[in-house]
Amino acid sequence: MEYKVLYRKYRPDSFKKIIGQDYTVKMLQNAIIHNKIAHSYLFTGPRGTGKTSTAKVFAKTINCEHLVDGEACGKCNSCLSFNNSPDIIEIDAASNNGVDDIRELINNVKIAPTESKYKIYIIDEVHMMTPSAFNALLLTLEEPPAHAIFIMATTNVESVPITILSRCQRFNFNKISLDDLVKQIHTICTEENISITDDAVLEIANLSEGGMRDALSLLDQLSATGDEITIDKILVNYGSISLKFIKDLLKFVENKDIENIHKAFLELQNTSSDYKVFIKKIVQELSNEGISILESNYSGNFSYKQIKKIVFELNDILNKVNININPFILIEMVFLESLNYENNEIENKNVNNYMENVDNILNNSNEKKKIDFGLKENKKESKVIEKENDKEYLEKLKKIRVNNCFSNAKKEFLNNFQSKWQEAIDDDNIKPNIKSFLLDSKIVAASDENCIITAKLKSTVHLINHNLDELTNELNKYFEKKVCFIALDENEWQSARQEYAQTIKNGGTYTKMSEDEIEELKPKNKSDIEEIATNVFNRDKIEMV
Ligand SMILES: [Zn+2]
Repeated sequence: MEYKVLYRKYRPDSFKKIIGQDYTVKMLQNAIIHNKIAHSYLFTGPRGTGKTSTAKVFAKTINCEHLVDGEACGKCNSCLSFNNSPDIIEIDAASNNGVDDIRELINNVKIAPTESKYKIYIIDEVHMMTPSAFNALLLTLEEPPAHAIFIMATTNVESVPITILSRCQRFNFNKISLDDLVKQIHTICTEENISITDDAVLEIANLSEGGMRDALSLLDQLSATGDEITIDKILVNYGSISLKFIKDLLKFVENKDIENIHKAFLELQNTSSDYKVFIKKIVQELSNEGISILESNYSGNFSYKQIKKIVFELNDILNKVNININPFILIEMVFLESLNYENNEIENKNVNNYMENVDNILNNSNEKKKIDFGLKENKKESKVIEKENDKEYLEKLKKIRVNNCFSNAKKEFLNNFQSKWQEAIDDDNIKPNIKSFLLDSKIVAASDENCIITAKLKSTVHLINHNLDELTNELNKYFEKKVCFIALDENEWQSARQEYAQTIKNGGTYTKMSEDEIEELKPKNKSDIEEIATNVFNRDKIEMV
């Protein structure tokens, strides 16, 4: 039997099998069910996220003669002949980027479909077409025959001319979430009798960065020998680095254990490890620690500022186009330098002095027990209250700012703010932490004075929302006014967007709300370090003793 690569074998053949694109699937199915099919569609998004598969499922379903719950029946003439149907025309613009194919397409487009309701053109990698091919296509899109539907897909929407864009219904395909990738890899391994460990599944999902095709071709390669797929096999073959190695290294940095830091980097320099994968993993791990610090449940030695500094400098290394020396040498320098980080030293010294004082006081005091008890109780209380207020404030602030943004959202504001955003990124004088926020997020909606931004990592969203005032102040000079920002993670943004679309569709409107009513909930404006010091060590209380 001919071997079929996993990606082809498990290619979804119905809407319900499409993974991670719920919104798009729902909209496309609704279009078919309510008979509101447009003449041209554009599917955009990163590679391996299901654009072409979805285009095929969509085409098959459009032409099916007996729909069942918005899915193709799989039994009618159209469904059975779908793969060989002369009415489904697939064009890969990456390989046929000449004008000839498009010209032929246009000559034939007026001829009615031979056996189906519609003649459907699926054009993959549409951005690869030449300008004259685009012009030829444009003529057809302007006055398409009633029986023709165009479904175009691209990984690079910026290269598609605006004249084409404006004639298409556009759907953005998201990167597939880690959970969805893990689930699908597990399912396929069970189905195919591939033996694999849980941490190996997770590592494959991590390495494929949201692309199902990449995940499955990795799985194909790793399963070729028939042996069990283990984390070590992946680490060796794909230049990946184990989480344990990362955690150990961070422990060495925390403990200022220079000898072991150096040993670890010597090891890295001698492997084929990919430094980009390494940096991404380190940053992910550090941002988790950063959140623990902000949420006051952290027991390590890193300071928040130190983490920010390391993350920003590693990001700089990622952005360097040409690195002529071994990148791990640069990365090691970032870590070693962070050990001498001035604020960190001062902070540690303060903490040490302070702890010494506490010991002295406690040892010389008759009221040792009482003070001890008071400390613990107070620490717990203030932490809990502050955390709850914080959360409540942020949730309310999100609602208000999203609402206010939608109350006057316009494309022109969005374009304008996006270019200012870029201006700020390009400015070397901007504060490093703010720059790292800007690099890791993007503006997705804007009114005259509100901006909604999204970031892939929840930790970035968290950090931005805990530094909104600083962000506004720093961006004042680029935006030339005070803009109220709010960061949403991708899920929050998708549901906000759907709600907005629904409201507008139903003729609803958004009325601007005031932030005054939640002002009292706003956390006091302490620096992160002060906040941690007060929360964890309850400094005020001690000095009174
Ligand atoms: Zn059918």
